[in-house]
Amino acid sequence: MSNVNSFWSPRVAVLEPYVPGEQPRIAKLVKLNTNENPFGPAPHVLEAIMAAASDGLERYPDPDSMALREAIAARYGLDSSQVFVGNGSDEVLAHAFFAFFQQAEPLLIPDVTYSFYRVYAQLYGIACELQPVDAGLRIDVPTMAVRAATDCGGIVIANPNAPTGTGLPLRDIQRLLEACTRRVVLVDEAYVDFGGESALPLIERHPNLLVVQTLSKSRSLAGLRVGFACAQPHLIDALQRVKNSFNSYPIDRLASAGAIAALADEAWFAHTRHEVMDIREGLALQLEDLGFEILPSQSNFLFVRHPAHDAMALASALRARAVLVRHFDEPRITQYLRISIGTREQCGLLVDALSDILG
Ligand SMILES: *Cc1c(COP(=O)(O)O)cnc(C)c1O
Repeated sequence: MSNVNSFWSPRVAVLEPYVPGEQPRIAKLVKLNTNENPFGPAPHVLEAIMAAASDGLERYPDPDSMALREAIAARYGLDSSQVFVGNGSDEVLAHAFFAFFQQAEPLLIPDVTYSFYRVYAQLYGIACELQPVDAGLRIDVPTMAVRAATDCGGIVIANPNAPTGTGLPLRDIQRLLEACTRRVVLVDEAYVDFGGESALPLIERHPNLLVVQTLSKSRSLAGLRVGFACAQPHLIDALQRVKNSFNSYPIDRLASAGAIAALADEAWFAHTRHEVMDIREGLALQLEDLGFEILPSQSNFLFVRHPAHDAMALASALRARAVLVRHFDEPRITQYLRISIGTREQCGLLVDALSDILG
């Protein structure tokens, strides 16, 4: 057999790609491993997508996605020049890493956070300096601010953080923005709609702030792939330059139509996100009764550990009972499980399975 690797460009061999949670085809699976929203998108989303599908698929979509950017801007009280959209917020993040963090100084990221950040940094050759989280796995803002004030290539945090679910108040974000005025501070708000505090109101006053959100979680559209970033126009222009050097049409006609319909339905949005938060609080109490320790969550998942049971063993015992949760075999968090909030019924099945396993 020939050596396949001889076809690869040298940098491909050293990449350590992100590994997403599995999407297996098992019947009757209780799938609580990838933070999907169990309630589905707003009712009019499907109609909007079908209408878009029956009209104009032979033509390219608008390369600037103006209709969608205007819908996002209107929803959040911004101008469309302050909004960038991409094929999922993962793509938005990738473009932001390329646009803002290829600097002489290292990028600061927490040592426990969304593991894709390190993957993008590696892809684009960006040096990262990991900032230790505290004993409660919270981002240590005072230490990070001191470090950022000397020199740094920028800051990336998730707020609420992943995979821990804990959130920072706005004054902490402000503190980081003021410590790192020469570089961009990226705040990934994938979970903010489940009880976090959004930094969007700070955009007006901070030319270095980039806020990234997604329709995958709180709008239940993970399958449509729509994410966005909000910032002052000079940062949005940089993202447009990168995007237009990569893919003119990241948002297809169906995604645009579905996303606009989702943003228009405030009632569904409010109902489903409150339902997720309510189920989360109930599940936390039940897991505590089973002896789990639970980090305070402002997201659509719980990050939990059991003092007497190995996390990886629990995850595989759950899997054997057709319940999927996420385990990260990484330093500091290897004894934790991340459990996405499902329907009441799914969470009930999880608790039954755990009661059975814990005996
Ligand atoms: C889910 C998630 C994303 C990616 O969302 P997509 O828009 O589906 O690409 C980004 N950041 C964090 C922290 C996430 O958990």
